[in-house]
Amino acid sequence: MTNLKDPSGLLARWALRLQEYDVDVVFKSGRKHQDADCLSRNPFPKIEETSEDIPFLNTIANFKEEQSKDPKMADILGKMDRRRDSTKFKEFNGILYRKNYDPLGKQWLLFIPKHIRAGILKSLHDAPTAGHLGFAKTYDRIRRKFFWPGLYRSVLRYVSHCREC
Ligand SMILES: [Zn+2]
Repeated sequence: MTNLKDPSGLLARWALRLQEYDVDVVFKSGRKHQDADCLSRNPFPKIEETSEDIPFLNTIANFKEEQSKDPKMADILGKMDRRRDSTKFKEFNGILYRKNYDPLGKQWLLFIPKHIRAGILKSLHDAPTAGHLGFAKTYDRIRRKFFWPGLYRSVLRYVSHCREC
């Protein structure tokens, strides 16, 4: 739109106005960002922040799409729609998070869809950096950042069946 040949047209005028608006917004938010402190920062952690020790998570381009493959997602979203006061789950940028009731760890935990859970368990238990820690430590590492229904049981099952432990 900014390359229109006739600048007197209505579209062109709108384009100019939008352009001004855009430039203004980008400039201000850039300035604001520099002195943003912890309190004003978005409480929803980005996938990259959450996955520093889980490299494969960073390779997922569209986490929203991965979440939508989990049949339980639809149930949770349906319940959220019916109960307007539901504060347990929240969507941010289309990605589902679960509130963390434990003061330790992130305020919002990333909802891990079913087909990705094994990868998380592997990364936080088997990987060289994870070092096959026992159930309590493995569970603790996972629940500080992630959520899925039956997390406790999955970790228990996974650790007790680990052949190398
Ligand atoms: Zn192990």
